[in-house]
Amino acid sequence: MEKGNLSIHSENILPIIKKWLYSDSDIFIREMVSNASDAILKLKKLAEIGEASNIPKDEIYAIHVRSDKEAKTLTFEDNGVGMTADEIREYINQIAFSGASAFLEKYKDKMDKDNEIIGHFGLGFYSCFMVANKVQIDTLSWQPGAEPAQWNCDGGIEYEMSAGERTTRGTTITLYINEESEEFLEEYNLKKILTKYCSFLPVEIFLNAQPEEENEADVSGNTDDQNADKNEDADIIDVDEADVPTTEPKKAPTPINDTNPLWQKAPNECTDEEYKAFYRKVFMDFNEPLFWIHLNMDYPFRLKGILYFPKLKHELEYIEGEVKLYNNQVFVADNIKEVIPEYLLLLKGVMDCPDLPLNVSRSFLQNDGYVKKMSGYISKKVADKLNSLYKKDREQYQSYWEDISPFIKYGCIKEQDFYDKIKNATLYKTTADDYATLEEFLERNKDKTDKKIFYVSNQQLQSQYIKLFKDQDLEAVYLTTQLDNPFISYVENYEQEKEIQFNRIDSDLTDALKQEKEESEEDKKQQEDMENLFRKALGNDKLKVNIETLKSEGISAVVLLSEQSRRMQEMSKAYGGLSGFPGMFDNEESLVLNRTNRLVNTLLGLKDDPDRKEDVNMITCQIYDLAMMSHKPLSNDQMTRFIERSNNILERIAKEK
Ligand code: ADP
Ligand code: MG
Repeated sequence: MEKGNLSIHSENILPIIKKWLYSDSDIFIREMVSNASDAILKLKKLAEIGEASNIPKDEIYAIHVRSDKEAKTLTFEDNGVGMTADEIREYINQIAFSGASAFLEKYKDKMDKDNEIIGHFGLGFYSCFMVANKVQIDTLSWQPGAEPAQWNCDGGIEYEMSAGERTTRGTTITLYINEESEEFLEEYNLKKILTKYCSFLPVEIFLNAQPEEENEADVSGNTDDQNADKNEDADIIDVDEADVPTTEPKKAPTPINDTNPLWQKAPNECTDEEYKAFYRKVFMDFNEPLFWIHLNMDYPFRLKGILYFPKLKHELEYIEGEVKLYNNQVFVADNIKEVIPEYLLLLKGVMDCPDLPLNVSRSFLQNDGYVKKMSGYISKKVADKLNSLYKKDREQYQSYWEDISPFIKYGCIKEQDFYDKIKNATLYKTTADDYATLEEFLERNKDKTDKKIFYVSNQQLQSQYIKLFKDQDLEAVYLTTQLDNPFISYVENYEQEKEIQFNRIDSDLTDALKQEKEESEEDKKQQEDMENLFRKALGNDKLKVNIETLKSEGISAVVLLSEQSRRMQEMSKAYGGLSGFPGMFDNEESLVLNRTNRLVNTLLGLKDDPDRKEDVNMITCQIYDLAMMSHKPLSNDQMTRFIERSNNILERIAKEK
C-alpha cells in the first residue's frame, strides 16, 4: 500500500485562480488592501497581548496605495507585521496556505471574540496575477533584529528571493501591471474600486498621497516615541508655513475610508442623527429613512448591521433596494439573497458577517445550514422590530404603513414564518378611513359582510361602489399595490380555517345592499324584457341583465363581475392571454339595474312606447356606459360614442325648453 500527500502543480493552479475563482478582476485590490489591513491588525494584536513589546501604543498605522503611470506599477504599502524570509516561504510560496488562519490558530487563546482578521483561504494574494506580469514584495518583519527580504515572481510560476533593502517595518507589494489591465493605473478607477470595497476598513487608506503629506500620516516603522512628537511638530510647521505667503496651507491627507462604521458601534450609543447621516452617505439618498433596525449579535454567530426602511416615492416596481454585505468591514457584494431574506433586499442596509467566508464562491452558500439560520435570524429581528413599533405607537406605525406594506406583503408571500410573526401587525386601510388588522376588520363586520371582505382596487374608478357601501354603512378595504392580488390569495389560502374570502367591491352585491323583496312573476317578466331591450340596444345578445331592489336610490345600475371570473381574466392576462380562446372571458359581466332608481323606473314605463324608441335607445346605452365606467375604463370607441351621445342628450334638453 502506498500513502502520500497530494501535491498541487502551480503552473496549473494559477490559471484556475485567475480565471475561475474571481469573477471581477478588480477584487485583487480588495485582496491586497485586506492583506495590508490584516498585517496591521496582527501587529496591533501582538502589541496588545505583550508579544511585540517594541511597538509603541500610539503608533500610527496606515495603508498607502500608489499608482505610477510611467513605470506602470501599482504599489500597496503598509506598516504592519512584515514578513521574514521564512514567512514568505511559508505563506507566499505555498499557495492556499493562509497566514491569517495560522495566526488565528496560534493566538486563539489570546484573541477576543471580535477577531477582525479578514484572510482565510490563503488564495487572495495570487489574485494580483490577474493584472500583473511581475510582482515584487519588499518587507521587513516587526521582530527585533529581523532582516529585510525581497521576493520576485514573474507570471506567477518561478520566484526569486534575496536580501531586501527595506529599512522600515512593514510590506510594500509592487505590481507590474500588464497591458490589458492598464485601467487600474488610473486614479479615478482606483478611487472607485477602493471606495466600493474598502470604504469601511479598520485601517486608514490613502490613495496617491503626496510624500510630504505622508510624513503626517506616518508610515515609517519607527519604534520609539517619535510619532507623538511628530504630531505636535506638525502644528508648529503649519504655523511656520502660514507666515510664508507663497506656500499653500498644508492640508492633512484624507483617507478614503471610515475606519469605524456606525454598525460596529453599540446601538445604544448611536444617535438618530448618526443613523441618518450614515444612510445619506452610504446610499446617496437624501430622503430620510422612516426607521431602521440595528442588528448586533455574537451568538450563535456574529452579525452586525443596520437595515433602513426607506420612504417610498413610487410603487413597488420602482423600489430598488440595496443591502451591502461586508466581511470584517470589507465589502463583499450587494444583495446576496442566500444570506439576506429576499424580501429584505428591497430595503437599504449594511450587514457585516465576519464568520462567512464570503470572498469565495456564492454557490456554496445556497445549501449551507448556517447561512439559512442567519437569514432566519435577520427575518425574525425585522418582524420583532415591526411588532414592537406597532405595539409602542400604533399611530406612528400607521403613518408608515403605506411605505412599509410592500416589504411586509412581499415578505409574507415569500416566507410563511414571517407571515406568522407579522400578521397581527399587518394592516388594511378601510373605507372608514382608518387602519384595521384582519381580526379587527372581521370582528367589526361580522354581522354585515361576515367572512366576505370587499376590497377597492381603484378608488377613483370604483367610487360609485364605495358610495353604495358607505350609504349602507358597509366597509371595504383598500388594496392598491401590485402585490395585493397575490397577497390576498396568500391570506385566503393560509387562513383557510377562517374561511375568509376577498371580493372586489364590484364583484357581487352583498345582501346588506339589497332590500328584502320577493320576486314575483311580473318581476321575472320585467327582467326578461329589460334584458332584451339592453341586448338589442347594445348589439350584444349575450349580455346578462338583472333587476335588483337596492337600498340606495341614487344608483341606476352597476356592472358586476364575479371575483372568480375576474381572477381568471387577470391570470390569463398575466400569462399573455389565452390566445387559443379569443373572447373566452367576454360577457362574464352582468348588468344590475336598480328598481328603486327613478331613471330605471321611467325607462320601465317608456320601453314599449313606439314614439319614444330613439330616446329609449339612448337612455339604455347611457345607463350601460355609466355603469361600465365604474367597472373598468371604456375603450376608445366606447368613449367616443359616449361623448357623442352625451352631447345629443344635452342638445335635446336644450331644445325642449
Ligand atoms: P489569506 O489572507 O487568506 O491568509 P493571502 O493569499 O491573501 O491569504 O495571503 C497569504 C499570506 O501572505 C497571508 O496570510 C499573510 O501571512 C501573508 N501576507 C500577504 N500580504 C501581506 C502583507 N502585506 N503583510 C504581511 N503579510 C502578508
Ligand atoms: Mg488575504
